[in-house]
Amino acid sequence: MEAAVKKNDQVEVTIEDIGSDGEGIGKYKGYTLFIKDTVVGDKALVKVMKTGKTYGYARLVELITPSGSRIQPRCPIADKCGGCQLQHMDYKKQLEYKENKVRNCLTRIGGFTKIPMEPICGMEEPYYYRNKSQFPVGRKKDGTLSIGFYAGRTHSIIDTQHCYIGAKVNVDILKFMRTFIEQYHIEPYDEETHKGLLRHILTRVGFQTGEIMVCLVINGNNLPHREKLVEGLKNIQGMKSICLNINTSKTNVILGDKVIPIWGEPYITDSIGPIKYQISPLSFYQVNPEQTKKLYELALQYADLHGDEIVWDLYCGIGTISLFLAQKAKKVYGVEIIPQAIEDAKTNARINGIDNAEFYVGAAEEVLPRMYKEKKVKADVIVVDPPRKGCDQSLLDTILEMGPKRVVYVSCDPATLARDLKYLCEKDYDLVKVQAVDQFGHSVHVETVVLLSKKN
Ligand code: SAH
Repeated sequence: MEAAVKKNDQVEVTIEDIGSDGEGIGKYKGYTLFIKDTVVGDKALVKVMKTGKTYGYARLVELITPSGSRIQPRCPIADKCGGCQLQHMDYKKQLEYKENKVRNCLTRIGGFTKIPMEPICGMEEPYYYRNKSQFPVGRKKDGTLSIGFYAGRTHSIIDTQHCYIGAKVNVDILKFMRTFIEQYHIEPYDEETHKGLLRHILTRVGFQTGEIMVCLVINGNNLPHREKLVEGLKNIQGMKSICLNINTSKTNVILGDKVIPIWGEPYITDSIGPIKYQISPLSFYQVNPEQTKKLYELALQYADLHGDEIVWDLYCGIGTISLFLAQKAKKVYGVEIIPQAIEDAKTNARINGIDNAEFYVGAAEEVLPRMYKEKKVKADVIVVDPPRKGCDQSLLDTILEMGPKRVVYVSCDPATLARDLKYLCEKDYDLVKVQAVDQFGHSVHVETVVLLSKKN
């Protein structure tokens, strides 16, 4: 089939959807165009830049009728920085968009006709919500220092003094770091030549405890003048941990394996609801603690525990959901593929005095089927919280065989969620409740919690 447009054509489109990088999506005579800098609801004149068989890319020439969802972004570099994709969209509209995205996936991919959807749970204050920030350090073309965020899709660093979604204290940390780097001639890392020392500045803040961690990722084994670094940083109120992380590999992965604590504790502590967590630079920890609390409370409510249940928490990370569930269950088993995360989960169980949670390292789709076959383990409730690719079919088959009364599915990708729910609901389960929770305001991502119950 011929594309309805060719390169350099100018056409009028209405933006109907948002792509994974926040670009607007519109159709011209049924042909899909991706258009940067547009918002759902815009009517725009666009110029076609590139065409493929089923879709193409265009550039905004002129807004004919701007969408009612457009607002002035708070952050002056929102359009350049790759961190936020939707700051130019009114927050209420962002929520509407996310809720619709979940509903559409469940309809189109899941084949569901009746969707028991609760209204999306948004943030009260969609700014300064992230407890973790990672700032790459480099040089601009003119040689001056640049600390900030990568531009969308590239590794050029957009210099940032103030990020509107990170912790407020980052402003002070970055200010001090700029002075320290300039004064002591710390060489920023250069990705192309693999030379230079300082790669990233990682900060973590316990929103409940106020404890702060700064971790500098370096391409080497030592940081010169580290006593001056400590002297400056420890004056920031709440500073609890200053570390180095060694990453000498030529890689896009931010952190290396080795952490050297240089001042204070090697971790900070934070809590979500009644549960405390110890967080080291390498630990996984949810980035939006306020919304995470709501998400976990919802998962707990859907699990409907009364104290005599056996619960499996698959893809458990550092055991965050497991420990929440353990407060109300007889026994919780957590399964997670990363050994370090399981170590953290065990520590977290211990510091909270929780002794009815047990953790296994391994792939959920291997551990659960094996335990079921060999040990005939049981489950009254199964919780899954998989990465974007969703659950393996062999895991879903084991869930169907084990037949727990309830399945609680926490998902960060509505498309794979819909696929997996379809599989379970075509066999033994009913879709009882669906609620989206906005964990990542101004980004295109959406988290969803679903309750399934076994058919009678
Ligand atoms: N439930 C946790 C973490 C969810 S993120 C929380 O709320 O904090 C998804 C987790 O799944 C990650 O920790 C990832 O390491 C883990 N994971 C990825 N593939 C897996 C697999 N096949 N089996 C078990 N865990 C897996």
